[in-house]
Amino acid sequence: MQAMWVVRDVLSSKERIAAMVERAKRYGFTDLIVQVRGRGEAYYRSSIEPPAPRDPELDDPLRFLLDLLEGSGIRVHAWINTLLTWSATGLPEGHVLARHPEWSMQSDEGKSALDELLAGTLDRSRTEGAYLCPSRPEVVDYLSRVYGEVAQNYPVDGIHLDYVRYPNSRYCHCPVCKKAAADWDDFAAYRRHAVTKLTEAIRDVCKKVRPDIVYSAAVFPDPDVAAQDKGQAWQEWTQHGLLDLVFPMAYFDSPQATFDAVVRVKQVSAVPVVAGLGAYRQSPDVMRQTLRMLAALDIAGVCHFSYNTFEKTPEYLGTIYGTDSRQAGA
Ligand SMILES: [Zn+2]
Repeated sequence: MQAMWVVRDVLSSKERIAAMVERAKRYGFTDLIVQVRGRGEAYYRSSIEPPAPRDPELDDPLRFLLDLLEGSGIRVHAWINTLLTWSATGLPEGHVLARHPEWSMQSDEGKSALDELLAGTLDRSRTEGAYLCPSRPEVVDYLSRVYGEVAQNYPVDGIHLDYVRYPNSRYCHCPVCKKAAADWDDFAAYRRHAVTKLTEAIRDVCKKVRPDIVYSAAVFPDPDVAAQDKGQAWQEWTQHGLLDLVFPMAYFDSPQATFDAVVRVKQVSAVPVVAGLGAYRQSPDVMRQTLRMLAALDIAGVCHFSYNTFEKTPEYLGTIYGTDSRQAGA
């Protein structure tokens, strides 16, 4: 697999989508991981969530993209942010957190991340924004419907979860978590349980609609940090067949650090690994070296974060996937 993450801003105009598709075809990409939901707003036609702001001529970005790719053989994975749901001030009408502010995670100081965000007092070094709390059955149901709607209505090849985790160990201490966690000796284990249950529920909905859909997630590469700090027990998820593919976000400056992180993931993952690479942190020449090193590993492929770097630096893709370096692509 030669893949890239396509961040949602690209989906705001037809021109940018078309240019991205052109490059994907020219440089031999096999898979596109396309962000169709960033912060509780849809880049597709949703009956559940409000539309994300975009060029008014672009009614349905996901449909437009799929039509352009028809017959190309390039697979599309709908990339959906799961729990991180808002990170700006002022909520748009119809947003899930406007309808259900009580679904926001609360910190160990008992403060709602949404309240702090809207008041402008949220410490961004601690959390990127307001996350939904996965301990609430209503949240699990809501997110399952969001994912299910995409799997049902669009012929995507895969569903890709992101932000399926807590921001850090300070969350969540909302009333629902406090009550439920009281039955557990270990708060960290309770948090892992809550996120795992959510991941399972979403998988069940997507696989019910489309049994052959590829179910994957972007995860913190260090399995211990992921499980302990983020409540993201992805090693366990791979062992229990919850994921079909795992994408460690191995975003490092050096090829060696990237390689080492991917090796560690490969050692513990029970499903094929797609190495997530930080194109934004590596020059094209360094990335060529990274790809050359990774080619020695038995992995399912690589996924670049993100297309934005290739859009900003048009010569980047030619350097890493030009005809002379094509064999370096894992
Ligand atoms: Zn909670």
